Amino acid sequence: MNFSFNLKKSNNKARLGEVNCAHGKIQTPAFMPVGTCATVKAIKTRDIKDSGAEIILGNTYHLMLRPGADLIADFGGLHKFMNWDLPILTDSGGFQVMSLSKIRKISDEGVEFSSHIDGSKYFVTPEESIIIQNKLGSDITMIFDECVAYPATYETSKKAMQRSILWAKRSREAFVEREGYGIFGIMQGSTFQDLREISAQELVKIGFDGYAIGGLAVGEGQDIMFKVLDYACDLLPANKPRYLMGVGKPSDIIGAVARGIDMFDCVMPTRSGRTGQAFVRSGVINIRNAKYRTDSKPLDDQCLCCACQNHSRAYLHHLVKTNEILGAMLLSEHNIFYYQDLMKDIRSSIAQDNFDHFYQKFLKTQ
Ligand SMILES: [Zn+2]
Repeated sequence: MNFSFNLKKSNNKARLGEVNCAHGKIQTPAFMPVGTCATVKAIKTRDIKDSGAEIILGNTYHLMLRPGADLIADFGGLHKFMNWDLPILTDSGGFQVMSLSKIRKISDEGVEFSSHIDGSKYFVTPEESIIIQNKLGSDITMIFDECVAYPATYETSKKAMQRSILWAKRSREAFVEREGYGIFGIMQGSTFQDLREISAQELVKIGFDGYAIGGLAVGEGQDIMFKVLDYACDLLPANKPRYLMGVGKPSDIIGAVARGIDMFDCVMPTRSGRTGQAFVRSGVINIRNAKYRTDSKPLDDQCLCCACQNHSRAYLHHLVKTNEILGAMLLSEHNIFYYQDLMKDIRSSIAQDNFDHFYQKFLKTQ
């Protein structure tokens, strides 16, 4: 089976689709829980599956440092190593190298950096990133790119975008074609429309199985991000999946779906879960708040997660206040269920030609 994308339906710009890859099908719009170090933090793989997630994301940068791509390859790849048999997308490490590592020199050849863990030196090239992702066995490989911080000057953004195109070509050439496995290009260009246009044109010329929009959700805020998406999605081929990297809050996701995005990933549901924040159908609650100390209701009475089916807000409040590990586990799992339910609701609203109404109704709950 070839890697493919089947666009089933559109409501204005919102799209309903299906990605087919080696380890299964992904209904889109889709949210990918982030499994940085071969674990979606504090959640067992079985529970991630129960949430309805059909794909997770792994981080090349973290996995190459610990435990190392060769060790994972010896175990038959990341799927077998962590016992997750559905699709996996891995990022290329570019973003983490530039945001987490300590010392770095960037040239057209690649990036030299020191590990944020023990300071040991590494040199990663686009080819090396693709080889590592191949060893991990990712269903979806991402090209190695240079992501600039926000705000960035026009010149800095232009340079990084041009280097990313160079690296996109080298990444594409280094990618080993296998049935069911795909590689995505990443559009850069910060908030500059002409740079985004050039980036998209060049990536489409190279030809990828899907296209990501990078360099957003880096501090520019929702209004600016939506303005970029308003034109950026139209620059990409309609018959390929579009992935907005590192996004986001529920309102970011719905707004991006309205502008034509199909795939998302973000640490927000799990990171928030570890700090006592829960996403519920009426908005966001901080379970640490004293008003939940005696609240006998579940977090969200429509949710089927373990926390909502078995425990009160008062119990969760107690766990979080006493720093019990179970509190972080239950809230993280709940948030992943919430995000997957949100994506299911988005998909069924598009299927029923009702997405705009769903979007308006959602905004009233925020
Ligand atoms: Zn729940």
